[in-house]
Amino acid sequence: MFIHQVSSVIINRRGDEMGIPSSYWLAIIHNDPAYDDLFFYGVCTTGIFCRPSCKSRVPKKENVRIFKNAHLAQAAKYRPCKRCKPDGLRLPDEEWVAQITEWIDARVHEPLTLSHLANASHGSPYHLQRTFKRVMGITPNEYIQTIRLEKAVAYLEHSDRSITDVGRAVGIRNTPYFTTWFKQIMKQTPGDYRKQRREAVERSYLLE
Ligand SMILES: [Zn+2]
Repeated sequence: MFIHQVSSVIINRRGDEMGIPSSYWLAIIHNDPAYDDLFFYGVCTTGIFCRPSCKSRVPKKENVRIFKNAHLAQAAKYRPCKRCKPDGLRLPDEEWVAQITEWIDARVHEPLTLSHLANASHGSPYHLQRTFKRVMGITPNEYIQTIRLEKAVAYLEHSDRSITDVGRAVGIRNTPYFTTWFKQIMKQTPGDYRKQRREAVERSYLLE
C-alpha cells in the first residue's frame, strides 16, 4: 500500500498509451513537485525514469512515457534516475506512520483532526486511518488522545500551570470540556489528580 495509490488512479491506461495529458507535460517542463505523487515519467532514449520535479534536462515529448508508479516504470525496464531517486519516493508504511506520529507529537497543543493529519501526511483520511491502525494497533485519534493524556498528566504533576493552561497545552481550549475529558479517562478531575499526586509525593518524602 502506497501513499498516493488513490490519486494515482486518475491516470488511466489511455493516458499511458495515447499520449501525455497536457498538465503532466507542463509539470515535467516546470519540474513541478506538486505532481511528484501522481506519476513518473520515463525517457525511452535513455531508459531512465524520473519524478516530475526532477531538474534533469527536459526530454523530447515524443520520447516520454508516463507511469502511474515507480514499480510500473521498473517493470517496463526503466532505471531510476540517480538525481531525483524516484524509486525512493514512496515510503514504507512504517516510516510514513512514524512521520505522522512525530507530526502529532509536535502539535499536540493544536486542535488536530483526521483531515488535518491526512492533509499533512499526503494521504486520504481513509487510507491514513487504516494504515495507522494496522501499524500502530490504535487509530490516529486514539493515539492523539493518548499523547494528550500523557502530556496533561506530566504538566499536572510537574508544573504549576493552571488547569486552563494545561488544557490548552494539550490542544483542548475549552476548560470544562478538558475537565470532563480528563475525568472520563482518569476517574478524577485534573485538579483532584494534581492534589492526590502531590500528597503522594510528600508522603514518600516523609517516609524516607
Ligand atoms: Zn530524475
